[in-house]
Amino acid sequence: MMKKLVIDDLFAQTLEGKEILKGINLTIKQPEMHVVMGPNGGGKSTLAMVLMGHPGYKITRGKISLNGKDITNLSPDKRARLGLFLGFQYPVEVPGVNFSNFLRMAVNEERKKGDKLSPIAFRNLLLDKAGQLSVSEDIVKRMLNEGFSGGEKKKAEILQLALLKPTFAVLDEPDSGLDVDALKYIAKTINSLDFPLGLLLITHYQRILHYLKPDFVHILLNGKIVKSGKAVLAKQIENSGYEHLKYEKP
Ligand code: ADP
Ligand code: MG
Repeated sequence: MMKKLVIDDLFAQTLEGKEILKGINLTIKQPEMHVVMGPNGGGKSTLAMVLMGHPGYKITRGKISLNGKDITNLSPDKRARLGLFLGFQYPVEVPGVNFSNFLRMAVNEERKKGDKLSPIAFRNLLLDKAGQLSVSEDIVKRMLNEGFSGGEKKKAEILQLALLKPTFAVLDEPDSGLDVDALKYIAKTINSLDFPLGLLLITHYQRILHYLKPDFVHILLNGKIVKSGKAVLAKQIENSGYEHLKYEKP
């Protein structure tokens, strides 16, 4: 069966009843790369949160399915077990969690008995991946995200993605707060993943799109996708901005 993440007529609001997503339709097939762009406040992060099952939002209409299974009401950890990965716009710190142990447990959870990585085998794998990402050995040994700069958090997150090999990933502004070198590393890692990934990449800026070639680009404005197209749409937006889309019928 073709692996796909399907968002069907999705409406969502905050717990206080503020409607944010107003009918989102989007299908991502593995291994497509979709980019969702839009102005601040349009609902991009809310879409990422709702896809991951964040308890701060409620879905009032529509559904989300992953490889044919309805996941609309599943808990975040069940979604993760089904192969959905979420990278946050502002990754949170997890005090007291050792980054390396955390990752090894997460990676081993996906592996069959007898195929589990020993601490040494995992360390070699991790340092190899970290080297590709230019994440220093020191960082790997430090606590998960604790005391990391914004750029280091983003790199650590992409490293998690590369190791966990999810089937689908939602990355919310993996480019925000990064200098050009860090941005290139993030893009390079995404481009060189050694497994098929369906990717929904959310971004406010087109900068990262100078290094990535999405299959589709969607513009999210005021809780709705108002325009979809190929990668060239991002170029058009770069030239014309979002403003004129407000007056264009979808
Ligand atoms: P984007 O990521 O595109 O900038 P967001 O999804 O963060 O947009 O926010 C969309 C709108 O919803 C904004 O007006 C924001 O203030 C509002 N919003 C998001 N989350 C909440 C929340 N938990 N409570 C109240 N308003 C929220
Ligand atoms: Mg956001």
